[in-house]
Amino acid sequence: MSRRRSWWGWGWEDAAVTGDELERLAGMLAAFLGDAGTPRAAPDPARLGLPVPRVRPPDALAAIADASDEGRAAHSHGQSFTDVVAALEGDLDAPCDLVLRPRDEAEVAATLDWCSSARVAAIPFGGGTSVVGGVTPRVGDGYAGSVSLDLGGLDRVLEVDTRSRAARVQAGVLGPALERAVRPHGLTLRHQPQSYEFASVGGWLATRSAGHHSTFATHVDDRVEGMRALTPQGPLETRRLPASGAGPSPDRLLLGSEGTLAVITEAWLRLVPRPLHTARASVRFGDFTAGAAAARELGQSYLLPAICRLVDATEAFVNRVGDGSTSLLLLGFESADHPVDADLARALEICAQHGGIADPPEHRGGDGAAGGWRSAFIRLPYVRDAVARLGHIVETFETAITWDRFEGLWGAVMERTGAAVAGICGAGVVTCRLTHVYPDGCAPYFTVIARSRPGAQRAQWAEVKAAASEAILEGGGTITHHHAVGRDHRPWYDRQRPALAAEALAAAKRALDPAWILNPGVLLDAPGQSSPV
Ligand SMILES: Cc1cc2nc3c(=O)[nH]c(=O)nc-3n(C[C@H](O)[C@H](O)[C@H](O)COP(=O)(O)OP(=O)(O)OC[C@H]3O[C@@H](n4cnc5c(N)ncnc54)[C@H](O)[C@@H]3O)c2cc1C
Repeated sequence: MSRRRSWWGWGWEDAAVTGDELERLAGMLAAFLGDAGTPRAAPDPARLGLPVPRVRPPDALAAIADASDEGRAAHSHGQSFTDVVAALEGDLDAPCDLVLRPRDEAEVAATLDWCSSARVAAIPFGGGTSVVGGVTPRVGDGYAGSVSLDLGGLDRVLEVDTRSRAARVQAGVLGPALERAVRPHGLTLRHQPQSYEFASVGGWLATRSAGHHSTFATHVDDRVEGMRALTPQGPLETRRLPASGAGPSPDRLLLGSEGTLAVITEAWLRLVPRPLHTARASVRFGDFTAGAAAARELGQSYLLPAICRLVDATEAFVNRVGDGSTSLLLLGFESADHPVDADLARALEICAQHGGIADPPEHRGGDGAAGGWRSAFIRLPYVRDAVARLGHIVETFETAITWDRFEGLWGAVMERTGAAVAGICGAGVVTCRLTHVYPDGCAPYFTVIARSRPGAQRAQWAEVKAAASEAILEGGGTITHHHAVGRDHRPWYDRQRPALAAEALAAAKRALDPAWILNPGVLLDAPGQSSPV
């Protein structure tokens, strides 16, 4: 029997947290928040009472159009905590009118032509794992309707060039399918965001996604040789090159464009050989800032650990890889060319100089901290949905900051978010881990688990998130290191982005999408409209 995707939350329906696992989770919430919560079931999408679609597809697109409530409901939100709760509450305030599933570029082009002439907003949809409202059809009143343009039909790996180590991949290919296609060549993209199983290549490129590797080529940007996209004004294809100094990079215009300038249809992506040598360890620090100092020195050592993830004591405890008294640094090295034990040994020396104590070598395998962390990491999105169903809050947010301002930003975000949680929710925890480590800075990633109740979850989280975002911006950080801007980060992105950069982006938008139909409200407002976030 084929597995069914959840229409309202993460992943597969049959992998949801139920039974003993749900009871254990409720028990943990009771201990942490003083309230176990009461599980709710998701509504039947056919009973949501969605408004009748405002637009009908032209005959040429009828074969790829889906006006069913199930299809529209599943395409009218992403996967943020807010999205999940809205779907659980059956409150899709701005459902798309149609889902269009093009099978080739010609059908993508026909969709853009129709949308431009009929003033219908078109929202590119890859895997729908956006956590920033990037695929939510909240487009305002200036449109006759909205369509979700699902790229899942462009699902082929078209070529593998083993000599240059690159692959030509269609935008709708999901992470596991890409890896299955290149693995027989001994190659990998080496790009594994936590959402890897359900996120698409087009979505990665459009959001400048970051994988779980902590150093070196962290963002997918660095893996792009060339791209092909369709704009309402025609195709935009860049030359496939290992590097180029020819003016501003057209690839960089499309990377991070979040579906507002073009529909990315394919890309040449750089591959690397699969690692043959690995070495890993876990190190405990009494103090998070001591661990951060070690992470900084590791980042600046150019040892380039594949994994260099510092998890604070509370987060280690919540994920059952610590007792709550020490921060945990997960370290991993890998190479297809040479043993990496010497690199690990040098990294452990650096950690020791900062007071880090390495777990015994026998704890380095799958049953140790690294294995425990990995299992928790993969299961987390399902657990997050279960917390939402129990009526509480769990959500993450992230940033990046240079080392000279790291401690100030980290301290302020922890304090102000913690105060917001205490004041607004009454009980909860804020945790932090460093997900990516650069020579000049790092990416702190925060998790909030807080008490709430059905009906209050979204409003309470919005207040906490606003407090956290203000602290990030005031501390000099970016509103996002890799989750993208979408609709949800607009208020802070608009303040972070230089005014002239906004004008230049709007000029590019006018050149490529003169009818302004591509994902309005994301990155930019349509002329005469303020953001309907
Ligand atoms: C549990 C969970 C874990 C996550 N972990 C990570 C992580 O580790 N790293 C990370 O970077 N992100 C992470 N994310 C966020 C999300 O997975 C990424 O933003 C991802 O790149 C989105 O890919 P997608 O195919 O799902 O895109 P979608 O959600 O479908 O779309 C995202 C944006 O890209 C646009 N878009 C999609 N496809 C195209 C296309 N072909 N052409 C033009 N525009 C397009 C959409 O319009 C939208 O604005 C996570 C999300 C969840 C829910």
